Amino acid sequence: MYNEYIDKMEVTRRELFSISWIITENSLYLFSWITAGWLLTPLRLHGWPVATIIWAVIVIAVQIVLKKHNCSGCYYYGKNCHLGWGRISACIFRQDSGSMKTGMRLSMFYPVSPPVILLASVAIGIFCSVTVLHWVLAGLYIVLNLISFPVRKIGCRLCAMRNVCFGSAVK
Ligand code: SF4
Repeated sequence: MYNEYIDKMEVTRRELFSISWIITENSLYLFSWITAGWLLTPLRLHGWPVATIIWAVIVIAVQIVLKKHNCSGCYYYGKNCHLGWGRISACIFRQDSGSMKTGMRLSMFYPVSPPVILLASVAIGIFCSVTVLHWVLAGLYIVLNLISFPVRKIGCRLCAMRNVCFGSAVK
């Protein structure tokens, strides 16, 4: 675990989260990222949905790099945190092999991406020719993000990292 975290830990918090919890929280993220990809499909170049491809690359890259810079130095490295990512991190990266500051910067992906995707999808809806499905998916994207916030808050409340995690919803 990163030295910067040690004094601020709350080890009396929940040690392990259930598989059903992990699946539910990850599903919310996954559906939200897939919906975002769909919303960007009207932006095409030579028939290719370039914005969706760029979005997919960003999501995958950020997820992998976060496992190194956030999760490798986390208390839950090798354990079931509320997202299960501590276990994934332990499968691909050495413990404490990342940089806490880089992890903090990368965490900005979570608060920044939903408004950016939402604004982009509204602009696409206005300036491109879209069907009603586009607006339905934009509504779904809002709902998924609204649901994921209280779910994340419950997870953060029980997490031993709640006082040190940059993305904690209950600090
Ligand atoms: S609690 Fe957060 S930082 Fe720690 S392993 Fe889980 S997802 Fe990664």
